[in-house]
Amino acid sequence: MDVYSGKASFKGIAIGRIVEMKRDSMEVHRIPDCDPEVQAARYFEAKVKAGEELRLLSLQCAGEIGEADAELFKVYAMLLDSFDDSVLTILREQNVNAEYAVARTGDKFVAMFAAMEDNPYMLSRQMDLRDVTDRLLRKFDGEEHEREDYHEEVILIADDLAPSEAVQLDKSRVRAFVTREGTTNSHTAILARTMVLPALCQTPVPEEAAGKLGIVDGFAGCLYVDPDEETLAAYRRRAREAAERLKSLEVLKGKPSVTRSGQRIRLYANINDPGDLESVYENDAEGVGLFRSEFLYMKRDDFPSEEEQFEAYRAVAEGMEGREVVIRTLDIGADKQTDYFGQEQEENPALGCRAVRICLIREEIFKAQLRALYRASAYGNIRIIFPMIISVWEVDRIRQICDEVKQELASEGVPFNDVPLGIMIETPAAVLIAEELARKVDFFSIGTNDLTQYTLALDVRNQALAPFFNPHHPAVLSQIRMTVEAGHRHKLRVGICGELGADPAMTEAFVRMGIDELSVSPAAILPLRKAIRRIG
Ligand code: PEP
Ligand code: MG
Repeated sequence: MDVYSGKASFKGIAIGRIVEMKRDSMEVHRIPDCDPEVQAARYFEAKVKAGEELRLLSLQCAGEIGEADAELFKVYAMLLDSFDDSVLTILREQNVNAEYAVARTGDKFVAMFAAMEDNPYMLSRQMDLRDVTDRLLRKFDGEEHEREDYHEEVILIADDLAPSEAVQLDKSRVRAFVTREGTTNSHTAILARTMVLPALCQTPVPEEAAGKLGIVDGFAGCLYVDPDEETLAAYRRRAREAAERLKSLEVLKGKPSVTRSGQRIRLYANINDPGDLESVYENDAEGVGLFRSEFLYMKRDDFPSEEEQFEAYRAVAEGMEGREVVIRTLDIGADKQTDYFGQEQEENPALGCRAVRICLIREEIFKAQLRALYRASAYGNIRIIFPMIISVWEVDRIRQICDEVKQELASEGVPFNDVPLGIMIETPAAVLIAEELARKVDFFSIGTNDLTQYTLALDVRNQALAPFFNPHHPAVLSQIRMTVEAGHRHKLRVGICGELGADPAMTEAFVRMGIDELSVSPAAILPLRKAIRRIG
């Protein structure tokens, strides 16, 4: 038995035959003395086919996994468009074949992304670019490539896996995937979590492992190859227990999230898109505690109109049928970038012009979003929350702008409700002045993701800093307590909507601190309800 350690993208146990993922070789030869016009026509023909394939993939992903994940393939289509200039220049200047021009363009873009060493997000996008390049190159040979079918349960191993490959996996057979490269921040890792597939990356598994039996332990972050009987039996037991645990959670649907002593915790869901409502219902969330509206902006190449935003907010408000929906105003900036905002390049984007700072500088963007939110408030139980607050004057100014928007709507005869206004507590500054802030707002929600990174002065997406990262750092926990106490002194409800809220190891501590609400990814709702109902 051999054991290989890696980084877990999604926790879980999987047992299956190890299969090395087959890929067609993409050898491209340079053919000189070609007619640039003929080659350009061949390029555009291949590009149309690749674009059509991406459109179908997006539909497949939307149907099988979810709307939000399907957006990735629309981004791929945009990447595809960015090839035109470079390919046509190479064709014109070098008189080479179109395949060669595409391959060189792909290499150039990958090298550009690879050079962004200090930006883990861009670094992890290299795989997306390689995928787009290979997809385009395959279209020149005219062959269609079928998805591989397996006849038993398998653990796939590969150097890396593109998100489009992850989506196309035979989900009835593939139990896990393990890659030698990749990062836990890649879109492939995000898809693994949505698909509930245990996955490891940066795992040095040799090719010879293929054909042998394997066990992926996504909790310990390791792959067992050719396990001995005892290990296999132990993991079979753990896998069975995990499946039973999942099934046993079904009975908790419709039950209140209340401790044995009667303390009620609101268990809400975090969503990015109206398409996520399905999993909100499926997991019996009691409300939406964080709708990250910036995803509406990020999946497009121009500002969404007030009307488009209104439709999205109304869909969620109506879909939740009177239950609370907390919508956050755009949190663009830092790792959530959009080109069309035309933001200046920043040395330190996490400390830069992001979130509410953009809104207070560029009021026209803010007002369009607020108008859409207030208009949607007539269709359900909407609350608005503002991200990245550090000062009282910001809240005063936000309130003034909200009043202006309400006056405008009233004068136009547009119906709206009086919406409660809350703030994210996700900077140490906001914690330290929580008393003053509490006098100005209706509720608090603690964003532990940012609060942790700003408190520890550590980029949580930087894998190299993993040894220094402690999500339970006492400095973070005591700030959560301070926020709850300050909020309660002013009769505000205080929730947590960062990832820490879903950590079952912390549930009892949060309940004892008096937290009123936990807003988590939909799949975490029922396990948390179970944990809450066990607390005395
Ligand atoms: C947070 O910072 O914890 C949070 C919920 O906001 P986001 O993760 O979207 O920055
Ligand atoms: Mg945040």
